[in-house]
This record gives sequence, C-alpha cells and structure tokens, in this order.
Amino acid sequence: MKTPRLSAPAKGCTRLRSLVYHFASSPHSISGTHAPAVKSAPFEYARAGSLAEACELLARHGDSAKLIAGGQSLVPLMAMRLLRPAWLIDINEIPALKFIRVEGDAARVGACTRQCTMERDDELAARVPLLRQALAWVGHAQTRNRGTLGGSLAHADPSAELPLAAQVLGARLVLRSQKGARNLEAGQFFSGPMSTAARADECLEEIHWPIWTEKRAGSAFTEISMRHGDFAMVSAAAQVALDAEGRCTRAALGLGGVGGTPLAFPKVAARLLGTRLEDAAVQEAGNAAAAESEPGGDLHASAEYRRHLARVLAARALREARDRARAA
Ligand SMILES: Cc1cc2nc3c(=O)[nH]c(=O)nc-3n(C[C@H](O)[C@H](O)[C@H](O)COP(=O)(O)OP(=O)(O)OC[C@H]3O[C@@H](n4cnc5c(N)ncnc54)[C@H](O)[C@@H]3O)c2cc1C
Repeated sequence: MKTPRLSAPAKGCTRLRSLVYHFASSPHSISGTHAPAVKSAPFEYARAGSLAEACELLARHGDSAKLIAGGQSLVPLMAMRLLRPAWLIDINEIPALKFIRVEGDAARVGACTRQCTMERDDELAARVPLLRQALAWVGHAQTRNRGTLGGSLAHADPSAELPLAAQVLGARLVLRSQKGARNLEAGQFFSGPMSTAARADECLEEIHWPIWTEKRAGSAFTEISMRHGDFAMVSAAAQVALDAEGRCTRAALGLGGVGGTPLAFPKVAARLLGTRLEDAAVQEAGNAAAAESEPGGDLHASAEYRRHLARVLAARALREARDRARAA
C-alpha cells in the first residue's frame, strides 16, 4: 500500500522505527510533565464485518483510509502523528481473514491471522518450519498476541522477519479489492522501505506459503539485534534440501536489514546445488550474498558492520539449515 502520509524519508527508516517502538514499548517514558503529548490526529472509525465491506470502505475512502489489524505498527505511527489517516477501517472482526489451511503444496494463511496463532500451529510448523523459526524473533509475546501476518507484510519493514521469510520462500500474496483478486509474488510485493505494490483500495486477503516436500529438508532463521525482541540489525533465513547422498538439491537464502526490502539470493543459492554444503561452500555463499546486499549505516551499526553481520549470519543460517536437513 502506498504510504503518502508517512512523512519520514525512506532512508531514515531505522531511526524512525527506533523512535516509534521506543514510545510503543515504554509508555511511562512519555507520561512525564515535560514529555510531548503523544496522541493521534482525529480520525473516523469503521469496523468492517466482511471482506466485501472492507473493500467497499477502501474504495470509498481511498488514500485517506488505513486498515487496522493488530495495530502494533500503525498505532505508534499515528500516535507520533507520522501517519494521519482520516479513516481507520478495522478488519479484526472478519472471520474469513483468520485461518490456517494446509492444502497440497501450500499452506494458506489468512492475512488477519495473529502471529501467536501461527506460532502455536504444529501443522504449519511441520510443513513450513521457517515460519515458526522466524516468528520466535518477532517482537515479544505481547506484540505477537495482537500483531497479524498481513499487518507485518503490509508494513513492509525491511528488517522484519515475516517479510524476509516470505521473500526467501517465494510466498504468494492475494490482494482483494472491489475489482477482484490480484496475486503477487513476495518479490513483486515489497517495493521499498515500508512500501509495497498494494494499491490503496486493496486488502491483503491471504498468503500462500510453498511447502517443500523433500524428505531431507531443513531451514533456519537467525538475527542480531541490540536486545532480543528489538528489530534486527541484520537477519538471515535459509532453507535447503538434500538427496540420499547428502548433496544439495534445493536451496534458498535471504537477508533482512541490508537493503530497502528483504533480499533473496536465488543465484547465490543455485551455486550450492550439487555440493554437500561443506563449510567452505556455505561461507562462500554467505560472502556472495553479503557482497550483493546494500546495507546502510545508522546509530546502531555502520554499513561495514552490517555487511560483516550479513556474511556471518547468512553462513550460519545455511549451516543450521544443512544440519537440520542432515538430521531429518
Ligand atoms: C515493542 C514492539 C516491538 C516490535 N518488534 C518487532 C520485530 O522485532 N519484528 C517485526 O517484524 N515487527 C516488530 N514489531 C512490529 C509489529 O509487531 C508488526 O509489524 C506488526 O505485527 C504489524 O501487524 P499488525 O497486525 O499489528 O498491523 P497494524 O499495525 O494494524 O498495521 C500495519 C500496517 O499494515 C496495514 N495492514 C494491516 N493489515 C492489512 C491487510 N490485511 N491488508 C493490507 N494492509 C494491511 C495497515 O494499514 C498498516 O499500514 C514490534 C512492535 C512493537 C510495538
């Protein structure tokens, strides 16, 4: 969804995020006598009872409306007046957006499914293990209780874990508007820091996560942040499959926090095919992925340090995924 009302520049993404989540996680820090008032601009509120109603409201209010799901990203942005939607359209009471269904070669998850629901779903964890591994790093139990899959993807923070998982696995996103449904690959959906290819009249309806059916497959998600629960400085995700001889038959690798969107490296991963994923080959892949990334620097970490983390974490994720595949 376009973000015309987000007044911070894209390059200031990390600083903006620090500020927003500082206020979100430390409400006492804004209640002192000298603290600035943190209160959203006035807005109209509508609760949609169905997806059709949500789409109708979006069509009517267009650019001046924002969907609200868990509110874990939107509410802090509004409280800081970085976003001033004239309308909030609440999609929390739409049952059709809350489901997890494993069907054939994909796990379909409704956009308004809470992150904690996904985290606790054993079948989802068995079929798409990268999701539970990624979710363990998303904020805190409290934020995952409210935060939704669709909200995280639509918010499109380049350091966020679920967008990286979607990018690495090649998830397919279904967007709904009054004009019908549109399917986008994750790579087409994320268009920049906190911006996506979704139109202002579209609601994310569901996400299709490909299931790898190979018997010997493994995945891993890892990251470095200032404190556990903080957004990652750099994150890495990998998934591999091995044949009976231990040779790699399929590989996927990605990095978060080192570009305007989460990055996948299909060409780097393809070079691992046919190898036994020896440590040297894995480190070479980590180096190549880091070389292709475009990290920026900020008060948390320099660009050089982020690139170093990218090398280390990409190789670490690949090794962990390989070891799980070997043990499968
Ligand atoms: C203290 C704290 C720590 C956090 N740490 C992390 C972290 O480590 N990693 C991480 O990834 N996130 C983190 N977050 C952010 C947050 O948990 C997620 O980004 C959040 O879950 C977004 O989901 P939501 O349902 O709350 O979305 P909302 O805040 O309701 O919405 C976010 C955006 O998505 C749009 N949107 C929501 N649903 C849809 C839909 N179905 N279709 C189209 N657009 C939609 C909204 O209009 C809005 O623009 C943290 C948040 C807090 C408060």
